[in-house]
Amino acid sequence: MNTFDLDKTYIAGTYKRFPVEIVSGKGSLVKDVNGKEYIDMGSGIAVTSFGVADDAWIAAVEKQIHSLQHMSNLYYTSPCARLAEALCKKTGMAKVFFSNSGAEANECTIKAARKWAAEHKGPACSTIVTLENSFHGRTLTTLAATGQEHYHELYQPLTPGFASFPAGNMDALKKLCASGTVAAVLIECVQGEGGVIPLDPAFAKELAAYLKEQDILLIVDEVQTGNGRSGKMYAYMNYGLQPDVVSTAKGLAGGLPMGATLLGEKVKDVFSYGDHGSTFGGNPVAASAALSVVERLTDEFLADVTRKSELIRSLLEGAEGIESISGLGLMIGLKTSKPAAEVVAACMENGVLCLTAKDKVRLLPALNIPDELLIRACDVIKAACNI
Ligand SMILES: *Cc1c(COP(=O)(O)O)cnc(C)c1O
Repeated sequence: MNTFDLDKTYIAGTYKRFPVEIVSGKGSLVKDVNGKEYIDMGSGIAVTSFGVADDAWIAAVEKQIHSLQHMSNLYYTSPCARLAEALCKKTGMAKVFFSNSGAEANECTIKAARKWAAEHKGPACSTIVTLENSFHGRTLTTLAATGQEHYHELYQPLTPGFASFPAGNMDALKKLCASGTVAAVLIECVQGEGGVIPLDPAFAKELAAYLKEQDILLIVDEVQTGNGRSGKMYAYMNYGLQPDVVSTAKGLAGGLPMGATLLGEKVKDVFSYGDHGSTFGGNPVAASAALSVVERLTDEFLADVTRKSELIRSLLEGAEGIESISGLGLMIGLKTSKPAAEVVAACMENGVLCLTAKDKVRLLPALNIPDELLIRACDVIKAACNI
């Protein structure tokens, strides 16, 4: 059987795949099994931060693989310790818990918030409030956090203790908080799966000030927006926010599974021995890969991410068939006149891999994609929007 048939026969049918088998790549170019080349404007959904088979990333992974591929968390290892230091130094957060995915990173934010609130305000203070149209993961608890009913339908009962409100509606939030049972508010600065929708900066400020005044934790989900994607190390930095807890994953290790939960001053000591754990969390290969990513996210590099973002906007703004452009940094949503799925299919036909998010075409290219490839990709996207 070929890969398509094997996959259809033996893999659970959760993914509606495109009829393309990707076999290799270099940087922002990937090749399918027939040798057709594509410009990768999706980076494995914001994962391959420096593209495919990046030399520095390979060197970091290879070096670590030859000395120690895994050790249990019963012992100290250097890569995760150095990565935690780098993340704290770049953010002002105080401590890190490592896991293996975005959902797990969010699970940890919820456990941290609930334990902190139980200890400081009593066990009844356990509700986590999220935004409508959010996305926080696929586990039963992060599904409960996800403010989109259609994800919930098949999996009742979900973890209790979650509520959501529409972004921008402070009155709705205050109503939820009036009971005194809200431990934390969990937000994405740019809703990714929800359609590349950035939070209104005035609302973000007002929200943060209110939570501070109420001693309610602010958790920011940086799973998709994090690690340079927004043009800052984390997207909350564009908003001048100071979260108590941050989760991240996707692009952190540039293509290996890794999640991280950053704990701010208020909650840095919330976990004690045995309170939480992960067999693979902080794996030395993933941590070495992540260090090779994080060390390169300098101010100068991030300024170039912003410049590339502006380049894409200038190339696509006002193009026939593109109604509006949303997003931050190299996380871009296009509202197209044609259905997004049709645009993506036409792009693929012409050698450009794009994503969708709700009714938008979503672009998440590697942070170091060369301008020349961006320009070529934008030409193809423009043509696909205008057929
Ligand atoms: C992708 C994503 C998640 C889930 O991450 P997984 O690694 O798939 O578990 C959570 N939150 C946001 C904002 C995401 O984009």
